[in-house]
Amino acid sequence: MADLKVSEMKDLTRIERIGAHSHIRGLGLDDTLEARNVSQGMVGQKAARRAAGVILQMIKDGKIAGRAVLLAGQPGTGKTAIAMGMAKALGQETPFAMMAGSEIFSLEMSKTEALTQAFRKAIGVRIKEESEIIEGEVVEIQIDRPAATGAASKTGKVTLKTTEMETVYDLGTKMIEALSKEKVQSGDVIAIDKASGKVSKLGRSFARSREYDAMGPQTRFVQCPDGELQKRKEVVHVVTLHEIDVINSRTQGFLALFAGDTGEIRQEVREQINTKVAEWREEGKAEIIPGVLFIDEVHMLDIECFSFLNRALENEMAPILVVATNRGITRIRGTNYRAPHGIPIDLLDRLLIISTQPYTEEEIRLILDIRCEEEDVEMSEDAKELLTKIGHETSLRYAIHLITAAALACQKRKGKEVEIEDISRVYSLFIDVKRSTQFLMEYQEQFMF
Ligand code: ATP
Repeated sequence: MADLKVSEMKDLTRIERIGAHSHIRGLGLDDTLEARNVSQGMVGQKAARRAAGVILQMIKDGKIAGRAVLLAGQPGTGKTAIAMGMAKALGQETPFAMMAGSEIFSLEMSKTEALTQAFRKAIGVRIKEESEIIEGEVVEIQIDRPAATGAASKTGKVTLKTTEMETVYDLGTKMIEALSKEKVQSGDVIAIDKASGKVSKLGRSFARSREYDAMGPQTRFVQCPDGELQKRKEVVHVVTLHEIDVINSRTQGFLALFAGDTGEIRQEVREQINTKVAEWREEGKAEIIPGVLFIDEVHMLDIECFSFLNRALENEMAPILVVATNRGITRIRGTNYRAPHGIPIDLLDRLLIISTQPYTEEEIRLILDIRCEEEDVEMSEDAKELLTKIGHETSLRYAIHLITAAALACQKRKGKEVEIEDISRVYSLFIDVKRSTQFLMEYQEQFMF
């Protein structure tokens, strides 16, 4: 596929989400994989974190191919937080994709398409590009400006004197602009980065000069066939297979990723991309980084999806699949069979199961402390105590939500820090699930059914 749009991928900058899990920076383990009490934003849940750490070690040793992890535990016991911690511990470049089981019932795409996209969001490609750097003393610059065709088609040549010989280089529009911006004249010693068109003016003792070093640590010498030494710069960027898919199947290119308009992607586009990526890998230009795919509420998937997962795990590029559920023995969707966690036995067989436990009051308090800091919210001791009690009696997630709301209430009364009154206020404004259900039961005759 000659027209694979790779250059656009350089323009992608990943948007870091400031979401419910932004405080998680890893699993918080020490060198022996023991869980520290509070570390990297993680609190308690030590056995599960340790188990997750052992799995990571197995992944790094290449011993977990074709397997997956099941996090089983009650709502709000940190299943997502642990999956996130695993991805963070694998490194910044490791992609983390997250979906809820119920998302496959979207009307916009088929179930397998939704799962395929999720898998490809969790597979990263590290692409290495070499850009050639040419350098030397300028002997002559010649720029052609065809009168009627406008700036876009400017062409030119520059003659550079390298150690012994003079070489003529063709100039692209970007380079011409850079040359005039730097006011390059005959006699100047310059370096041109061919890929980016960037021009740097250098001192005469260029090769050992500071400016040369400043071109970046990835600059290195390459011996060319004719024996001449050339400088090259390695440019590395990481994108996901899904991003490559979208860029190449929508006319607006990478902007489609921001518009969220991904829709279904044709199988032939994916096949072409797989072939291209395989080629790059063979040429040493690309590496695959398997990431983490987290599927929450996995019991919402049906038998077709489970068989898809079984197959997908066999792929050599498969990400680490982490699924979570809070169900015990329940019906497998799409069948009349019941199974543990609503997962078919053949998939269960591949799963390493980690269970999460409810938090103590002390642990809830520590997590709330971390969230307050993360959200830049000042809160009095009394208020924190009250919020901890609320978290213990309702749910951790509800208490975390109240932090943001209480901070707003405090701001409104122009207070300095969140006090008990702010917590009470939002506690009565936003009810938790228990109170909401109770309310419905008490007043059910008055609701419409
Ligand atoms: P559900 O089953 O409802 O999906 P869950 O088990 O995935 O819930 P999380 O969403 O991970 O629970 O936890 C709720 C909130 O508490 C999140 O903001 C999460 O980051 C935070 N949290 C949970 N456990 C921990 C922990 N051990 N340390 C720090 N923060 C945590």
